[in-house]
Order: sequence, then structure tokens, then C-alpha cells
Amino acid sequence: MNEATRTASPVQALLERLHERHAGDMSGEVASYIPELATADPAWFGISMVTADGAVYEVGDTQREFTIQSISKPLTFALALETAGEETVRQHVDVEPSGEAFNSITLQPGTGRPLNPMVNAGAIATTSLITPLGFDKPIDRILNEYSAFAGRDLSVDEEVFGSENETGHRNRAIAYLLRNADVVDHEVEDVVETYFRQCSTLVTCRDLAVIAATLASTGFNPVTRERVLREDTVRNVLSVMASCGMYDSAGDWLYTVGLPAKSGVAGGIIAVLPGQLGIAVYSPPLDVHGNSVRGIKVCEDLSDELHLHVMSPARRPPPPVRVERTCLDSRSKRLRSPAEQQVLAEHGDRVKVLELQGELSFAAGELVTSSALERADHTDFAVLDFYAVRSIDLIDVPIFSHLIESYEEAGGEIAFSDVDRHPLFADDLNRHREKEGLHPVRTFADLDLALEWCEQGLIEKYGDVEADPELSLAQHGATLGMSVEEIELLSSHLEHVEFEAGDMFYGTELMPPEQMLLVTAGKISLLAKSDDGGYRRLATLSPGMTLGEVSMIAGTSLAGLPRADTAVKAWALTEGDLEVLRAKDPGLVVTLLENLLRQVAQRVGHMRADLLR
Ligand code: GLN
Repeated sequence: MNEATRTASPVQALLERLHERHAGDMSGEVASYIPELATADPAWFGISMVTADGAVYEVGDTQREFTIQSISKPLTFALALETAGEETVRQHVDVEPSGEAFNSITLQPGTGRPLNPMVNAGAIATTSLITPLGFDKPIDRILNEYSAFAGRDLSVDEEVFGSENETGHRNRAIAYLLRNADVVDHEVEDVVETYFRQCSTLVTCRDLAVIAATLASTGFNPVTRERVLREDTVRNVLSVMASCGMYDSAGDWLYTVGLPAKSGVAGGIIAVLPGQLGIAVYSPPLDVHGNSVRGIKVCEDLSDELHLHVMSPARRPPPPVRVERTCLDSRSKRLRSPAEQQVLAEHGDRVKVLELQGELSFAAGELVTSSALERADHTDFAVLDFYAVRSIDLIDVPIFSHLIESYEEAGGEIAFSDVDRHPLFADDLNRHREKEGLHPVRTFADLDLALEWCEQGLIEKYGDVEADPELSLAQHGATLGMSVEEIELLSSHLEHVEFEAGDMFYGTELMPPEQMLLVTAGKISLLAKSDDGGYRRLATLSPGMTLGEVSMIAGTSLAGLPRADTAVKAWALTEGDLEVLRAKDPGLVVTLLENLLRQVAQRVGHMRADLLR
């Protein structure tokens, strides 16, 4: 994103407005229990936002370095989860909100475990679990992790570290209690030093927003495009941030702001909207809980104005059924004879097509099931189309399998189209069905083919139409209204041709240009090359239809490449023969052209319906 668009962006404008709104608020006190922190200017104020796709917005003091303090806690907790494993971590620290201040000395009666990793006691316990593993000291490994989060090399502020190391008696006391309870199982001084150093890591407001955005995008740093954490770790970390991140105001925070968050006594706050963005605010004056006053206000306003609250009903995903159709409003590319069209017009509503979309969760599977089964006994065929589906939770496998059974029990047949985009789901579904002794799901490469299957089913069920009949010339649509003599004359100028299934015959000696075909048996599809190198079909012709009449008469090339889908029989008429016929019997040619015009009109109508849907 360049500077110009960034200034013009409404998000940037909003951050600037919030900065202006709260810059004058001088309430709160800069932390002074760590003497070095007291030197901060209460006016320093920065806001940064980084989206899950790496766009950065910022205003104010976003490049000024300050110490991360307690915002280190979720990061070290994450590192502990990934290196020591969840079980070990949980043995050393619980995940219950304490309702107490960050430096409270409360430990769980009996086990002596700290209540959660977001208060000092819990953080000291998680820090003690970090082994150096290839690094000199645990702190080097921790800094390495934080740097991956921030996307740049971070270091420790030795002044702040020294200051806290000299005065941090309370944290030392907590560490000794933990040592006494065997929660910390090595040298207290080393653990406390590592803890003080990690708290003294220098970051900027922008770094914190990148860290928050990494937590928002499942542990993938959207700026460096590197994976920092596993997805399951991120879920665990965000859960604890949501319930414990803001100490004894965590409940109030979740209620008003509604985002997992963490604050530090140097004045930083991060807040995370999972899947979407990370926010960071830097402003040193703190409230009585030790949270940045301006930080809270900015987060409250942002949550409110951008509707970020995770419990907000506006956060609902889009409905899983994008649109519901029948064969009255959706047709395949297969061209149909008038008799077939009649059947489809009368019974097209007995087909139910559900076009699905988005990320299909468990709840989405349930919604799709109820839409598919609604009035199922009034339909004969159903198609679930997965073209616009981005992902499917595997929890949906038994749900979709059950849907198939229920639909079939109601007497219908069901197919899935474009489900191959989700090979994991498709494989799992069929494995599941095999285990249950059920037939594999019927699938089609795309909705067009699935629709053709539905149409064919309706025609066979309700039509008096013979499936793919072989026609005589007199039964062909091009000879409608001709006398026996005229048909005979026409036939003497036609040449019988046959293609084999799979033949791409156009332009070869099988079908030179400047001629047209009257198809009497088999199917021909007109194909267009698609972007992926394969073919997409434009139309399918059956017996009674013509191919190449427009291009022959207009002298243009054929729109699409014809391919024989099955063995095909047809009559070929060349341009030269049409000329000869015109001289011999102009009336016959007029009738022929009228019939061709009728077919063309039908095809144009089909195309228009396709465009309008
Ligand atoms: N280093 C600080 C302490 O342990 C961190 C506290 C905080 O940021 N809330 O007191």
C-alpha cells in the first residue's frame, strides 16, 4: 500500500480521529514501582493496526521504543506450550481468571499452582519452563521467539532490567513461593532474571500490532509471511488472553471491548480480532489495574466504531446456502428439443440446487441439511454445489453423509458438484460412507454437468421422450414441414457422416469448414479452452439439432470446438450444395432456413436465460 492511499483510507482517518480525541486525556499515572519506567513522558501516545493480510495503519508515537512488560506473558506462554507441551504447562499453571491484581501472590491451595499465565506468578512459572535449546540461555531463545513475532530483531533495555532487578522483591517472593511448591523446579535467581529480562524487551507500538496480527492470523506473521506458532497454540493463548489478559478488569474488558487482549505496565496494550486484525496502543499513564488509560479508551472506541466485539451478532458468517434454485431457473448447457423443454418447464421445480458458500462449520452443515430436506418429498433430484465453498470442517462429514441418506429415504437422488476442490473432505466422506456400508456420493466436476443429470432424470421420469433416439432425416428438426419429395431432394445433396466418441472432428477431413451437420444420433459438445488448460462446455447438441449452420451461412468460424461425446451420426450439407438446392427448389431452401432460424432462436434464448440467472 502506498502512502497516498494510506492517508486516504477511512481506517487511517479513524485512527487519526481517535488519537486526536484522546491525546488530551492526561488521567492515570505512569508506573513508578520500577523506577526506570517513571521517566516516561505521559504525553507519548501511539496507535497501530495491522490486518491479517499485512496492511499497516498507524498514528502518533508508533516508532518509539518502550519495554514490553506483561505483554511478554502470552508470548512466553505460547513458547512454553510449544516446547514443554500443553500437559506439562498445565501442570505448572492453571487458566482460571484470578480477579486479582497482576502482582497478586495467590496460588491455588493444595497444588500451589498460579491461577493463570497472565499474572506475574503464572508468567514466572511459564518462563521457568523455557529451556535454552541451542541458545546460550533461555532469554536468548525467548528473544528469538519475540523477534519472529515482531518481524525484527529485538533486544533488552538493560536500564529497565537493572532497575526492576534491584527493586523486584515482590516478584522474587512470588518465585520463592513457587519454588517451595515445586512449581518452579530450578534456581529462583535465574528464573527471575530471565523473567525481568523478557519484561524489559524493547518494542515499538508497531511491533506490538504486528505481534497482535500474528496472533490474529493463526500464528502466521502477515508482514514477514513466516509461521511463528501452531494454530492450536494460538487458540489456547487467545483464550487465556480473553479471560485473564486484563487482570482484575478482565470481565469488564471482555464485556465492553470484547477482544482478547494483554497490557503491560510500560503503557502498551494489544488486542486481537481473531482472523482479522491486531491492534496496539502505547500510552504510559495507567489506571488502578495497571492498564493504559488511553489504551483502553482507544480499544473501546475502535471496538465500538468498527464492530469488533467477538460476541457481536454482526460477526455471523454468511449463510452457507448462497442461493437455492430449481431447473425452472437453472439449466445445463445441453440444448433441449421442444418436447424435452416441455418436460423441464412442467417439472423443473422437482429439482433443488443449493449453491453453498464460505467456510462450512458444524452449524453450516446443519443449516444446509435443513434446506436440502425442506419439502424433500416435492423434489426428485438435489444438487449441492461446492464451487463457492472456501473450506469445510471435517466435523461436517457425518452430517453431509446423513443428509444424503435422509434425502434418499424421502425418495430422491442427490449429487455433489465441484466438491473435488476439497479433496480432504470428499475422501473422508467416502471413507466414512464405505465404513457405514453406504454407496459413495455421486459427484460431478461442475454444476453444469450435475444440472444435466437432473434434467435427464426429469425427462426420463416424466417425458414421453425416448432417451437419445436415432432419427431419420424426416424426423429431424431441419425438415419440419417438408414434403416427402422435398426431403428426398434434400437427402440427395447430403452426405452421411459418422464420428467416434471423443473425436474432435472440426477442421479435419471428417468435417471441413463451410458445411453444416444435421445430427441424427449421439451427442456433440461445443467446448471452449479454459484457463486451467482444460475445456469448459458451451453447449451440448442432441439428435434433431444442427451444428455449424450460422458459421456456414455467415462465413465465420465456429464458436467453440465440437467434440463427439458419444458415437455420432449426422447428415452433412455443404455451402456448394445449398447453392445448387437454391437453384433447383427455392421453396425447399426457404423452409430449411426457417427451420434453422427456429433452432438458432432457441439457442439464443438458452444463452439469454444463462446470462440472466
Ligand atoms: N515486569 C512487570 C512486573 O513483573 C510486569 C508487570 C506488568 O506489565 N503488568 O511487575
